[in-house]
Amino acid sequence: MNIVLIGAPLSGKGTQAKHISETYNLKHISTGDMFREIALKDSELGREVKKYMDRAMFVPDSLTMQILKERLKEKDCQSGVLLDGFPRTVFQAEQLQTLLNVDVAIYLKVKLEVLLERVKWRFVCPKCKTIYTITDGITVNCSLCGESLIKRSDDTEEKVRFRFDEFQSQTKPVVDFYMKSDKLFLVNAGKSIKRVSDKIDNKLRSMR
Ligand code: AMP
Repeated sequence: MNIVLIGAPLSGKGTQAKHISETYNLKHISTGDMFREIALKDSELGREVKKYMDRAMFVPDSLTMQILKERLKEKDCQSGVLLDGFPRTVFQAEQLQTLLNVDVAIYLKVKLEVLLERVKWRFVCPKCKTIYTITDGITVNCSLCGESLIKRSDDTEEKVRFRFDEFQSQTKPVVDFYMKSDKLFLVNAGKSIKRVSDKIDNKLRSMR
C-alpha cells in the first residue's frame, strides 16, 4: 500500500505519519526531514536547499523530484511507502503517478487559528525527530533519546502564516487532484491526536 499524507504545517502530519507507518509497516518518507538532513551538509546541494528552507519556501520541483525519485528506488521502499510532505504541488503529484500507484491520499484539514496556537507549544527532538507539545514549561529533553528539545527555525508565527498561504495556493490544488481521482480521504485534524488516528485507522482497515 502507498499512502500520501497532505496537510498544512502543524496539521499533525509528522505524528500521524509515525503512527501509520508503524501500524501498517510502511516506509515513512518525509521530504521535509530529507531536506533538513541535506541542508546540514556543507555542499553545493546543501547550501541550495538551505536557501529555500530558511525562507520557508518550497524547494523547486525539479530538485525535489530528483531527490525523491532516487529515494524511492531504494530497497526499503519496495513494499509500500507513506509519503509525508510530498507531493506539495500538482506537478509533483503528476510526476508521482509515473513512479508508483497511490492507494489513498489522506488530507489533514485544519484552520489557521489552530495552527497558530499549536506553534507556540511545538518542540522537536533534533535526533529522533519526535514532536512534542510542551505546555508544562518543564520538559526540556526527549523522553526517547535524551537529546535537548529544540524549536524548528520555521516554527514561528510569521513563518507559519507564510507556509499556510503557500499551502493554500500550491498544495490545496493537490487535494483537488486526488479528489478528482477518488483517492482523497479528508480528516478533521483540529481534533485530538487519538481521534484523528482512529479515523485514519478505520479507513485504512477498510481498505485491507
Ligand atoms: P516540512 O517538514 O514537511 O514542513 O518541510 C520543511 C521544508 O522542506 C518546507 O518548508 C520546504 O522548504 C521543504 N520541502 C519539504 N517537502 C517539500 C516538497 N514536497 N516540495 C518542496 N519543498 C519541500
